[in-house]
Amino acid sequence: MSQENILIINCGSSSLKFAVINPQTEEEFINGLAERLGSPEAGLRWKINGEKGKQAIADADHDAAIGALLSLLRDANLVETIAAVGHRVVHGGESFKESCLVTDEAMQAIEDCTHLAPLHNPANLTGIRVAQKYFPELPQTVVFDTSFHQTMPKQAYMYALPYSLYREHGVRRYGFHGTSYRYVAKQACEMLGLEENNSALLIAHLGNGASASAVLNGESVDTTMGLTPLEGLVMGTRSGDVDANLFSFLNKECGYDIQQITDLLNKKSGLLGISELSNDCRTIEEAMEEGHEQATLAMDVFCYVLAKKLAGMSVALGRIDGLVFTGGIGENSDIIRKRVVEMMSIFGFELSEELNLKHRFGGEGVITTNEQCPKALVVATNEELMIARDTAALIA
Ligand code: AMP
Repeated sequence: MSQENILIINCGSSSLKFAVINPQTEEEFINGLAERLGSPEAGLRWKINGEKGKQAIADADHDAAIGALLSLLRDANLVETIAAVGHRVVHGGESFKESCLVTDEAMQAIEDCTHLAPLHNPANLTGIRVAQKYFPELPQTVVFDTSFHQTMPKQAYMYALPYSLYREHGVRRYGFHGTSYRYVAKQACEMLGLEENNSALLIAHLGNGASASAVLNGESVDTTMGLTPLEGLVMGTRSGDVDANLFSFLNKECGYDIQQITDLLNKKSGLLGISELSNDCRTIEEAMEEGHEQATLAMDVFCYVLAKKLAGMSVALGRIDGLVFTGGIGENSDIIRKRVVEMMSIFGFELSEELNLKHRFGGEGVITTNEQCPKALVVATNEELMIARDTAALIA
């Protein structure tokens, strides 16, 4: 086999996702996850050609995990097929408007963005350094969650705060899920027969973390997430938008400190917070069917906020060619798609119940009645493939 595959690495603080993909044929040879790194329960799970495997790697850190991954790739005869390593990096601040090769300057610039993503960027940097150690001959690239949104106009990314906070500390809206939006926008244009440079899309990336973006002529012109991924939509455990005075209110009323309030907004809110049941959309949907009131309310708020934000962002587009659903929830929940498309009927959307149900558990396609314009559709995101494509282009 020739050397044209890309190893994709996505490092979290205690986890590491990986895949080997051929960017030309889109074939995926292996994917997997090392999790609970740094603990006695650390483990490696993978799938090779559809076959699952796992291995305990007790107390492994990122270094040991990538070491174990290298052995796995050797056993699968994949090492010689890999041409480069592509890393997902969460925050590129204003320094990275696109993906790039890893250089000393790029590493420094990622380090300089650490204050914007203190949990994520250090883990991403560790992943790059360890991969350089185990794959010293291979070029490495970085692909950022934020860079796609660097095309947003200033009116969309500035907060109405003292300007010095932007100038001196980079306080502005950055947006996330950019790699997904870039992939999904391209796919949606192909599916709708649109030229990307003459297209107007609203895209909802709905997973455990959720955001929406307005994409005009292939470029992000607005998005719901902000300085951090907390802003915007209701998510699994994140609140989305709240009144910022909640901080002083909860401090005075409940005696919570900054860390407690930050945890509350990021880890105890959203679907989980309202339902007091689960952050998982499937569990919420099942509970709704059984008449669980708070699960029903959580779903009502989730859908209403999503429709309201999408409608609001339409001002950035001027017209809507397509409303795209993607991510674990967007690709699978016919219930949420139905509600949101119906709430947006003011824009002329008309749901096809049949087509929507057809994409109940995955699959791609239009879900509005065929004659109707604008169209709503389901697109399966593939961030790994996008990273592989970027990496292949950068090393070419
Ligand atoms: P992600 O973060 O993109 O992996 O998406 C995770 C979310 O997708 C979780 O809230 C899941 O409950 C949700 N999800 C996955 N499958 C389904 C399904 N069949 N119906 C509704 N939600 C789903």
